[in-house]
Amino acid sequence: MTSRVRRLAVMLGLFIGYVVLDRVSFMHEYSPVGITPWNPSPGLALAALVIYGLRLLPVVAAAALFADIVVRDMPVPLLPMITTTLVITVCYGAAAAVLRRRLTPGEGLWRQRDVFALMAVGALTSLVVAGLCVGIFVLTGELPRSVYSAAMARYWIGDMIGVAVVTPLLLVHRRLSVPDGRAAVEVVLQVAALAAVLIMAFGTGPGETYSLFYLLFLPLIWIAARFGIEGATLGTLGTQAGLVAAFVTVVDDSAAVTGFQFRMLVMAISTLFLGAAVSQRRRVEEILRRRRDEVAQYGRLSLAGEMAAALAHELNQPLLAIIAFTRAAQRLSAKPERAAEAMDKAVRQAERAGDILRTLREFIGTGGPRTAPHRVAALVKDALAVVAADCARRGVNVDAVLDRNLPLVHVDGVQVQQVLVNLVRNAAEAMDQAGGGGVVVAARRMDGAVELEVRDSGPGLAEEMMDRLFQPFSTTKATGMGMGLSICRTIVESHGGKLWLVEGGPRGCVFRFTLPTVPPSGEEEGE
Ligand code: ADP
Repeated sequence: MTSRVRRLAVMLGLFIGYVVLDRVSFMHEYSPVGITPWNPSPGLALAALVIYGLRLLPVVAAAALFADIVVRDMPVPLLPMITTTLVITVCYGAAAAVLRRRLTPGEGLWRQRDVFALMAVGALTSLVVAGLCVGIFVLTGELPRSVYSAAMARYWIGDMIGVAVVTPLLLVHRRLSVPDGRAAVEVVLQVAALAAVLIMAFGTGPGETYSLFYLLFLPLIWIAARFGIEGATLGTLGTQAGLVAAFVTVVDDSAAVTGFQFRMLVMAISTLFLGAAVSQRRRVEEILRRRRDEVAQYGRLSLAGEMAAALAHELNQPLLAIIAFTRAAQRLSAKPERAAEAMDKAVRQAERAGDILRTLREFIGTGGPRTAPHRVAALVKDALAVVAADCARRGVNVDAVLDRNLPLVHVDGVQVQQVLVNLVRNAAEAMDQAGGGGVVVAARRMDGAVELEVRDSGPGLAEEMMDRLFQPFSTTKATGMGMGLSICRTIVESHGGKLWLVEGGPRGCVFRFTLPTVPPSGEEEGE
């Protein structure tokens, strides 16, 4: 679908969805102006404006007018109708503008603070809309002044419940997936539990069984605890649908309907908060698991130092053989067949040396960096999280000073984090000996690259390190492998960047390296 066709489909979908929702929710209306205690269409409009932006505002206005004229059969004259439509459009437009900045970018409803923002903005907006619209009806003589607060309460709960029940589902819809296996069985049981409670409460007609309605909390808690925020949004919408069915078939008293809607609102908000808390906890667990994997990877890198020692030993032998065979070939240049034979042997030995090196590369887990666009701030933050405990133990303070609006870097995230981890850990170790101090990680924009810097206030480089800082196995530490900086340089250079020492004097060390902001040739730009 081209973007133009998609945009048209979204506009049409919003228009039709708004009008259809208005039609199916048109019940228990407050005559003569047609206020309903269940008004999902503003919830749909709000979600569409949050997801697709305020350019959909004219569609919302057109749909609201069309619904009033066609579905509600013009309950009020044209002037109040147009004025209330304007109020609805402007207020929900403003709410969407606030939410677009407040909700987690790219995710919509994600954390508990997103749920809070949606509920707070939704409650306030529907309150202002209800107050103004009912006020307009009173001013134009459509409603007597004495019913202002009753009509407003009903208007508010109708809109608010739409925002609490319809908007959340639309804001998470991209993350919904069809459950399989055991989860699918559980979903069937949960739906059955919801249906059973609704039937128990409303199945026998009006009466005392209504109070069983509160049992709906149990399946809703079950759903939110198992399926997080995504499950919570589906559960509350399903429950509201069941309630609406009861309003249409059993509950005939409009005041009772409004009462149920207030209770439904409480249930929806509680379920969404619980769902968000469960999702948030799962994500933290996932991040911790990934961090453990990365630390294990880092451990493998330092092990690579030991392996390199063994490999250097092994490489020595084929290299000596290559020299011997090449010399033999030189000597035998008068006998081409035997010279070719010696060269063949030399080539075979060179290939063997290549194989040995490849083993090391595969062990370190590179095989060339697998690059993707990354935010520098996120890379620095993740790397500092890995060394945080170590630095704290040494009494070393680490600060990140990053330029604003840094471009994305195209790198292998794990590898670049390893570079930062190595540099910061070296700095912290140096300062530990000097009795504490601070490390500063800085980043600034360069032409086609971002330059990162790790600066410490330690004792500076030892004399004997000056000339062989980046050589493997150069270390001044009793337990050091001397591989850290050499691996860092390999990683940075494999990304097309440079790593160098800026200062190594007695006021501390400064290391800098660059990372490319353009994708390597042959790779597509992407998020
Ligand atoms: P390792 O840390 O395993 O010894 P590295 O390659 O990471 O190996 O570092 C080599 C040596 O460089 C260290 O042993 C240390 O003497 C020196 N060095 C590295 N970073 C610093 C620093 N920030 N301050 C002082 N010396 C450093």
